[in-house]
Amino acid sequence: MAGSSEKASKRRALIVGGSMSGLLAALLLRRAGWDVDVFERVESELAGRGAGIVAQPDLIETLRRLAIDPTALGVEITTRKILDASGRLVGEFDCPQVLTAWERVYRVLRDAFPRERYHRGRGVSGFVQTENSVVAHFSDGGDAEAELLVGADGLRSTIRQQCLPELTPLYVGYVAWRALIPEAAFAPAIHRELFNHMTFCLPPGEQCLGYPVAGPDNDLRPGHRRYNVVWYRPADENGELQHLLTDAGGTTHTISIPPPLIRREAIAQMRAAAERLLAPQFREVVRMIDEPILQPIYDLETPRMAFGRVAIIGDAAFVARPHVAAGVAKAADDAAALVTALEVDEVEAALRRFEAARLPVGQRIIERARHLGAYLQATQTAEERARSQRHSIPEAVLAETAVLDFLRS
Ligand SMILES: Cc1cc2nc3c(=O)[nH]c(=O)nc-3n(C[C@H](O)[C@H](O)[C@H](O)COP(=O)(O)OP(=O)(O)OC[C@H]3O[C@@H](n4cnc5c(N)ncnc54)[C@H](O)[C@@H]3O)c2cc1C
Repeated sequence: MAGSSEKASKRRALIVGGSMSGLLAALLLRRAGWDVDVFERVESELAGRGAGIVAQPDLIETLRRLAIDPTALGVEITTRKILDASGRLVGEFDCPQVLTAWERVYRVLRDAFPRERYHRGRGVSGFVQTENSVVAHFSDGGDAEAELLVGADGLRSTIRQQCLPELTPLYVGYVAWRALIPEAAFAPAIHRELFNHMTFCLPPGEQCLGYPVAGPDNDLRPGHRRYNVVWYRPADENGELQHLLTDAGGTTHTISIPPPLIRREAIAQMRAAAERLLAPQFREVVRMIDEPILQPIYDLETPRMAFGRVAIIGDAAFVARPHVAAGVAKAADDAAALVTALEVDEVEAALRRFEAARLPVGQRIIERARHLGAYLQATQTAEERARSQRHSIPEAVLAETAVLDFLRS
């Protein structure tokens, strides 16, 4: 148990991964009196991968808890719309939300954490734990010791792989083409129609949606924002996916392909499909895309989050398909639950308590996202096909996408 002097009572935590869940956990632990260091493998400052983020109430609540002002986090919208293939408005739904950008959230978190305790370019290669401590080993040969280690190191987590080597992300049978388009590129008519809403178009077995987010440097001024467009398309794992992940030199990439390496032919096929399948408004949006991002979609579901003095949080533990828009909110809630448990118990007991609280939530998020996305899969089981019908109708897509109310029911 902790000693009586303030210095002796400071318990030390190592956070592996300096993105959303790492920073959220680090800030909450510091606030609870822990001595915290964050180790991020990437040497340079992290930058957004080009998609918007829904600022869910859970994230806003955690920012408030950290005394970070959540106002001006992003672009506020009030309505969702659906267009049919001819461009006709076929559904509308009131759903006030704040849409932000990854960089915006990262920046406020990064600025709130002491620079000297955030160590860039320090990848963790593994850890060893004893009864009283855990030692992290770094790829550069160094090590660090603490009472707690938090694996906040994302989909391909080193920490999770050491604890659960068999667990791998599962490709779900569809990809997303994504892009951010400068607001200034929108002609006035299409801007009026699309820009201030979340708008969907649903070609059979596909889903395209778009919404506004902050501009570069988190610029929220009208005219300086960006439009985030995402188009989910089925791609079977052994055929179309391999084709999309193969670059011009013939190399087939695993998991994802850097945007500059996507073959021109693959992009041309996507653009031709847009002209055939999408509402005229979205055809115009696709024509405005300069360099699209291709994101194969994966599910990851961990059976455990606590391993003695080591916990995994955020994407290291659960990665849901994007339809629930839960990634950052889940990271915030994982971090908050971890710190709450540590306020009550010693480390190992606290981690067990944290796991008991968060495993069922992660499972529910994964399951919900699977249901919402089942109709986009290249192949489906009979059960998935039956469920698809319920979640693919326009009313369901409008009401269920990117809404976390199911967690509160
Ligand atoms: C650079 C970046 C940009 C992103 N952009 C977007 C976006 O635009 N839109 C969106 O919806 N989501 C984006 N995401 C994903 C989003 O942040 C996550 O899905 C979610 O917030 C959960 O975050 P996480 O911190 O658990 O995992 P991640 O965000 O994946 O972060 C994991 C971090 O751990 C680091 N890491 C991995 N292995 C090690 C190791 N062995 N040692 C030390 N560090 C390690 C990684 O470099 C990474 O910074 C982005 C993630 C990153 C890292």
